[in-house]
Amino acid sequence: MTDGGRQERLVRMDDLVSLCARRGFVFPSSEIYGGINGFWDYGPLGVELRNNLKALWWRRVVRERDDVEGLDSSIICHPRTWEASGHVEHFSDPMVDCRACKKRFRADQLEEAGSCSSREGSSEHDFTDPRDFNLMLETRIGASEDSASVAWLRAETCQPIFNDFRRVREVARQKLPFGIAQIGKAFRNEINPRNFIFRSREFEQAEMEFFCHPSEREKWFGHWLAERVRFHRDLGLGEDRLRTRPHEEDELAHYAKQAIDVEYHFPFGWKEIEGIHDRGDWDLSRHSEYSGKDLAYTDPDTKERFVPLVIETSVGIDRTCLAVLCDAYAVEELDGGETRSVLRFHPALAPLKAAVLPLSKKLAEPARVVYEQLRRNWNVFYDDSGNIGRRYRRQDEAGTPFCLTYDFESPEDGRVTVRERDTMTQERVPIDEMVAWLRERLERGA
Ligand code: ATP
Repeated sequence: MTDGGRQERLVRMDDLVSLCARRGFVFPSSEIYGGINGFWDYGPLGVELRNNLKALWWRRVVRERDDVEGLDSSIICHPRTWEASGHVEHFSDPMVDCRACKKRFRADQLEEAGSCSSREGSSEHDFTDPRDFNLMLETRIGASEDSASVAWLRAETCQPIFNDFRRVREVARQKLPFGIAQIGKAFRNEINPRNFIFRSREFEQAEMEFFCHPSEREKWFGHWLAERVRFHRDLGLGEDRLRTRPHEEDELAHYAKQAIDVEYHFPFGWKEIEGIHDRGDWDLSRHSEYSGKDLAYTDPDTKERFVPLVIETSVGIDRTCLAVLCDAYAVEELDGGETRSVLRFHPALAPLKAAVLPLSKKLAEPARVVYEQLRRNWNVFYDDSGNIGRRYRRQDEAGTPFCLTYDFESPEDGRVTVRERDTMTQERVPIDEMVAWLRERLERGA
């Protein structure tokens, strides 16, 4: 920001939603048919942002640890899985319908229902009594239409982890305590998908289930809570917009012993982006019961046999992307009254790490040589159209940390001008030191 420049944080979600559509981060799925409520597509910049976030999570939770193994399970599991987990019986929200406008709402979120547009003489809704509505999305497998072919798209990614617990432990030759992690799609037939990608019907979770001895549950709960808060801070999310909130007794899932949410302060309020849960031995006990396979564990040293307890960390990739986008967004007033929108992503998350901009099309050939060299290392953009100021603005909006301008002096002195996104300061850097120069800055704090 230049001296005297003012910086505005995101206040209206609409501003972010339109930037995301305009720049191709996220837009409604099936847009040419008018969209489909609760489903979103991530465009060229969005998919890079998501991939970077998932790669960071995987690195921290799986690759850098000896005690966590990775998994990529199928989305559709044996239907008994969801009977054992309690989803068939319990995974529902109470819903009410308005008899006048026919809209459906969650009975526990009526303050967000707004007014009814269909009643004469009143703007109050005319609600039915609450009824339970199961959130699992049903599908059918195979050619027959009978009830035996019913299956569900997974409502959370952790259940297949419990199904595979024994196999993964054996093949990885792990002893307790250890964890299994996976990233993947989950589906919930949410009654009211809303707040952009915050609550959708298809979303992605990154979950880790850590199996331990009952005497160590507190220790591992504390460990994972601290780890996960550190992760969100390291993404650069503002300290004052991040908090943890323990669940009240009456909020706890029926099997949970303890749960703490990590919440982010969105423009629409404090909301959960991740949950850290002590799930007790509920899942493994139930899957043992329903599958008839004993999932208890024998300690090889003490010979003690017990059902492991599970500490879970469960983060939404879409909700974290939304928090990152909200946090990064700023509109700045520059000297001279001009404004710019900028996404101040952490370099590790930025979809594009750098842009190569020849000052004139005549310089395209040597500038492309620089570009080719950089793109072997990172996702880099090349742009030779429009005036340089406009090209900078385009990269600011995409959140690109560095713009490299190749000018008429570059062939002479072997340098480019590097402009930094946040400070807009400029520096001449030798082209043959460019890769090392960028690496040092992009990997700082990652
Ligand atoms: P909420 O109370 O907001 O519906 P939840 O407590 O049901 O969420 P969990 O079952 O704990 O959520 O799921 C773990 C994580 O998965 C959440 O912290 C969130 O980031 C993500 N998640 C859950 N439901 C959705 C959804 N409908 N859309 C996007 N992300 C979701």
